[in-house]
This record gives sequence, C-alpha cells and structure tokens, in this order.
Amino acid sequence: MSTELEIVRTVADLRARVAAWHARGETVAMVPTMGAIHEGHMSLVQQANRLAGHVVASIFVNPLQFGPNEDFAAYPRGKARDAALLAQAGAALLFTPNANEMYPEGFATKVHVAGITGGLCGATRPDHFDGVATVVTKLLLQCTPDIAIFGEKDYQQLLVIQRLVRDLNVPIEIVGGPIVREPDGLALSSRNAYLSAEERETAPLLHAAIQQASHELAAGLSAEQALESARAALEAAGFRVDYLEARDPETLAPLSGPVASARILVAAFLGKTRLIDNVPVPPQA
Ligand code: AMP
Repeated sequence: MSTELEIVRTVADLRARVAAWHARGETVAMVPTMGAIHEGHMSLVQQANRLAGHVVASIFVNPLQFGPNEDFAAYPRGKARDAALLAQAGAALLFTPNANEMYPEGFATKVHVAGITGGLCGATRPDHFDGVATVVTKLLLQCTPDIAIFGEKDYQQLLVIQRLVRDLNVPIEIVGGPIVREPDGLALSSRNAYLSAEERETAPLLHAAIQQASHELAAGLSAEQALESARAALEAAGFRVDYLEARDPETLAPLSGPVASARILVAAFLGKTRLIDNVPVPPQA
C-alpha cells in the first residue's frame, strides 16, 4: 500500500491532524522510530494499519537515550528515503520534530521506570531507559493515539513502555510487533549497517545461538546449561557477550534451573557494533 504521506514538524500541527481524525470518530495508531527505516519498522506500520484507521509514524533520534560514548552522532539519518518507505508501508502522517521542539530551553522533567529497567540493557546503558521513557511519554501525549506499536526486537523497552502507560494511566493501548529477520535469522536493525562484510557473515549466529538455547530449555535442560553452550558458541565466533539471560517473559525476573516458559535475551558486541536479540521459550515454530 502506498499513501500520500504528510510531514509535520510541530506538536501543534500533529495535534491538529489527530484531533480532526478523532472528531470524525476515526482511530489512530502511532509507530515511534528513530528513522533509518527498514522492513522491521515497516511491518509495525502495516500492523498499525490493520488496527486503526490512520497511522502516524514519528522519527526522532532522541539524544537523551544515548550514552556519552554511544553512536548518537553516527546514527544513520536519511529523511527522504525514510519518508518514502513509511508511505509505502501505509503511514498517513510523519512527525519529525527537531530537538528544540522536543526539548525546548528549560526542559527539566524525566520519566523513570524503576525495577524492570534495572538489568539487561539498563545495566550497561545506565540512563538509556530514562531517555526512552521520557521521549515515549512525550510522543504519546503529543500525538494522543488510540494505540501505539513497539517491536519485540527491543523486548525490555516494550515492557518498560507497557509499565509506564499502566502506572501513569495513559489511555493508550500498547501493542507489541513481532521481530522481522533477514532470511539468515539476523534481526533487522538500523545498526546492522555498521557491520563489516565479515561481521555480517558472523552476525546470524546471535539468533542461532539463542534459538538453540530455547530448544534446549524446552527439552528440559537447565537455564545455566543452555546459556553456557550458547555463550561458548558466541565467544568462539568472536562475539563479546554483554548479557545472555533467561528471564520471566512478563516481569523480566531472572530464571534458573529448568524453566518451561521464558524469554532468552542477549546483547553482544561484534567489533564495535552492539547487537541485541531475544526469543521465546518454548521456541516459535
Ligand atoms: P528504532 O528506530 O530502532 O528506535 O525502532 C523503532 C521501533 O521499531 C521500535 O519499536 C523497535 O522495537 C522496532 N523495531 C526495530 N527493529 C525491528 C525488527 N527487526 N522487527 C520488528 N520491530 C523492530
């Protein structure tokens, strides 16, 4: 599907378009992104279109969620290409605020979700989820969609956003979208563009290793055993593992021993590039 895509840059323009749809009794779904649009983002827009009358996508590379030594400056940006892909996927409106629209002079508020942000990506990226929670709260209040869709690719992020919406009584339904992968299993990510040709060949092992661990857990092996073999396989291939864990799929509480239902989550560096992935236990067919 390809639609006319209107681009707005201010909260006032965004609100006017969404208010007009709501005044006609039509529903709106939002898909927040940081751009560098790929088929993972596009699948969320398509899913949003099945759930609501109009889809608003946003592109904002949020400085608050990058650490001082992370890739904020290098993060891939290309608005014309991104807009064309979002239109192709069926978005009706693209909201691309600049940093001043999002964080005007004097901005002083932070949204902090406790507990669920503590481990995994929160352990190695200390301010990351405050940055995510703050910008997502703002985007949801700026747009006031009926539904907002976030990818399971960022599984911890999805749970953080579901928590904050419940805790703050934000009247917006948060929906998860399945992970879109390359044919060799590598989860699509804007950061895959950083991989050298050689690293790109190794990268699918990340998914293969956790998928194997998921099968082993489902077959009755303990979490420790299954994760130890996955870690060994990743390290032998040249990954530097940041974390590799089996967690409760809803609370992200750590799990050990034999477990019937879990989420295996991994973050690992290949060279300078940090990749993340996750799979359910039992594995999907
Ligand atoms: P990002 O632009 O990386 O902030 O991602 C924007 C949204 O797209 C987030 O909700 C991500 O979880 C989601 N996303 C990123 N990669 C994928 C993927 N491979 N499959 C599905 N959703 C994804």
